[in-house]
Amino acid sequence: MRAAPKISNLAQLGKAAADTVTFELARHLDVAIWVYDIDRARIIHANQSACDLWQAASEDQLRRRDMGHDMSSTVAKRLKQYQSDFIADDATFTELWTLYPNGVPKSVMVVFSGFPLSDGRMGMLCEVISESQDQPQNVRSAEALLHTDVMITLFERSGPPLYQNPAARNAAIDPGAGLSEQFVHPKQFKRLLKRLDERGEVRTVEQVHTADGARWHDLSAKLCSDAVTGQPAILVTAIDVSDLKEARDTARQLANRDQLTNLFNRSFLQAHLQTIARMSEPRQCALIFFDVDRFKQINDRYGHDAGDAVLRQIALRMRSLIRAEDLVARLGGDEFVVLLENATSAQEVERRVTKLCQSITQPVIHGATKIDLGISVGIALFTPHLADFDDVLRDADVALYVSKQSGRNRATVFTEEMGAAAKERYSIEIELKSAVKNDEFVLHYQPRLDITSGKIVAVEGLVRWQHPTRGLMMPDTFISICEESGVIEDLGRRVLELGVEQAIDWQTAGLDLNVSLNASPRQFENDDFLKSLKELSDRPNFPTGRIELEITENVLTGDLQAIAEKLRKINAMGYRIAVDDFGTGYSNLSYISQFPLTCLKIDRSFVDQLPSSGPIIRLILTLGQQIGATVVSEGVETEEQLEWLARNHCDQAQGFLITQPLPLDKLMAFLEPEKTV
Ligand code: C2E
Ligand code: MG
Ligand code: MG
Repeated sequence: MRAAPKISNLAQLGKAAADTVTFELARHLDVAIWVYDIDRARIIHANQSACDLWQAASEDQLRRRDMGHDMSSTVAKRLKQYQSDFIADDATFTELWTLYPNGVPKSVMVVFSGFPLSDGRMGMLCEVISESQDQPQNVRSAEALLHTDVMITLFERSGPPLYQNPAARNAAIDPGAGLSEQFVHPKQFKRLLKRLDERGEVRTVEQVHTADGARWHDLSAKLCSDAVTGQPAILVTAIDVSDLKEARDTARQLANRDQLTNLFNRSFLQAHLQTIARMSEPRQCALIFFDVDRFKQINDRYGHDAGDAVLRQIALRMRSLIRAEDLVARLGGDEFVVLLENATSAQEVERRVTKLCQSITQPVIHGATKIDLGISVGIALFTPHLADFDDVLRDADVALYVSKQSGRNRATVFTEEMGAAAKERYSIEIELKSAVKNDEFVLHYQPRLDITSGKIVAVEGLVRWQHPTRGLMMPDTFISICEESGVIEDLGRRVLELGVEQAIDWQTAGLDLNVSLNASPRQFENDDFLKSLKELSDRPNFPTGRIELEITENVLTGDLQAIAEKLRKINAMGYRIAVDDFGTGYSNLSYISQFPLTCLKIDRSFVDQLPSSGPIIRLILTLGQQIGATVVSEGVETEEQLEWLARNHCDQAQGFLITQPLPLDKLMAFLEPEKTV
């Protein structure tokens, strides 16, 4: 306890002792007095009473005692603090102190004051003013108060401290500072007082000024009266929880934020929607789902650093455009969500989405690279009180899917019809899984005509799904679902098997007919693709050179070396390779001669636009000649088209003019005259 002006005479004597007055005066007094060298943990002067108290035979014997050897670090630290307080502001302290002369505890009330030593250092004069008559329990509680790390302070109702335990004194930036001065945020102090007046007791975590800078204290404050004066007072106990708070804040940050962009994450978005549903009036909100177009290609082409930079840039752009009441989150990958909390009309939402998209799709500059961006958007309007988070997200996702399907880089608002279509897709997806096992797929065959000889030289195997209740389903209705759900791998393997088995049968029957089969990009990219092809080519009677795999042009982008290598392996197994729908993709024409291609199939759209598309078709014909590949025109429907192709030396034609794709029996009937030729 800081005993401000009422100090004992001896304490004043001590202060003057630096050079003139010696300790000799104190020797005549009855009370125990000694001088303690804080730095060396030794008693350097003691009067007889002090020797008695310390149970020492002589002053010399007492001087030899190492007082530091069983001193706790808290006590040592506190004495150091006293030493600097003596130097800084002439402080004196009156405290109940427990000594351990020869190991036996003895509680005494001591006044400590500074005592300048002859070598200039600051020592401590200790004067016992009374031996404690307290009950052992009281002594213990006083001791506990002295040694605890919990900071305990009794403040005047709106003034300085009346009492501080050592822990509180050590932490205080200024020992005389009132409670309000400790608060970093004055508003918080006012709040504390208000709550104290209402409830008499408050527990709160606050940022306070301390000798170690701003720290977080877990404070318990209680209204009470000073036991000495009866004046209103506040008793505050505080624990430093800065480390704990920091750890908790970091954990919360990790749990709520996306690490790459520092946007909120999915779980925060979900919790936030639940909060809106609980706290506010029902109102219409908009959940806007953004997905970067062809993000995988950005990663593949420019590297993951560039991909990350794009995502961070998008996050920045989104954040700068949304209002304070709205929220932007990253769900993962290239998926972002903006939540508009007050979306009264769809038009207004669309207007804001357009603005967002205009900003987001500005090219991103990464180092020396300019990356163009497209973004597809799905919007779901909903009322948080009535909607489930997963349902809303699914609706926005369905709308996003529609945007992607209708050419990307656009926004779509979810409708119930879209929901029904998505459900249909979903049930098809489920049925597809069992369809492969149940062997529900068949091939129809569309012949390819050699234009010069007029003979059918090949057929393209086109898959059909013989659905038990829906009837014969065309590939357009299920191939994309297979691709997205991964069923394409099983389906693709089955198609290859059906095609190869058929080709073996025809070869055995002496029919001179090549078979081309479609392979989807996902199937081609899968490592198992080569394995399946190898298994088939190892079958007895495999018709080497008669099976052609149709891959799409987009497969020929990305790591061109690796693709060329893969194609060469396929070629070496005895397969031919055609590029399907040629002219519509993004292949690297300068590289095309590096691939072992045997056939280019000109996309139907070019044939359809003849004669205006003539120059493009001629270009493809020249390219085919140069790389030694057969050129086939797809979708030939009229005699005029066929004549144009014949005039321009196109090798083969496929299309409704010759025939539609046919089931096996009809194909055989169609081919019958050929066989007899
Ligand atoms: P594709 O490989 O380009 O096949 C040609 C498509 O064009 C076939 O449609 C065929 O019926 C149609 N077609 C042929 N001649 C004409 C014509 O003169 N006019 C018009 N308008 N269309 C014509 P289909 O059988 O519906 O197949 C559509 C697409 O589905 C195929 O296009 C192919 O990309 C895919 N596909 C078919 N079977 C398979 C398969 O087994 N695996 C994979 N991955 N995809 C397949
Ligand atoms: Mg094809
Ligand atoms: Mg095609």
